[in-house]
Amino acid sequence: MLTEIVSDEQLINLYTEGGYLVAVDYQKNEVKLHTIDCMLADPISSVGVKPSKAKENKTGEFWYSKNRSEANSKAEEIAKKKAYTYIVCPICNR
Ligand SMILES: [Zn+2]
Repeated sequence: MLTEIVSDEQLINLYTEGGYLVAVDYQKNEVKLHTIDCMLADPISSVGVKPSKAKENKTGEFWYSKNRSEANSKAEEIAKKKAYTYIVCPICNR
C-alpha cells in the first residue's frame, strides 16, 4: 500500500518497518527511490529529506511503500507525468 508522507515524524516512525521511499523534488525536477534506512531518507540526518518542510514550502512530496515494485511504479508514474528525471539512489540501491 502506498502512503503519502507529509511529516518528518511520520517518516522517522517508518524507519524500522523497512520498505521504500519515493522522494519527489520539485526544485531539482527529480524523483528518487530510496530504501527507508538510507541516510538521505532520514529526516534526522543533516543530508536527509525533510518532508515537513517540503510540505510547508511546497518543494516536494514523498511516498512510502513496503513493496519495491509498488514504490518503483509510483516513482516512474510521477517522473513521467511531470517529465522529471527518475533516479534510483546510488547510495542505498541494493
Ligand atoms: Zn538512498
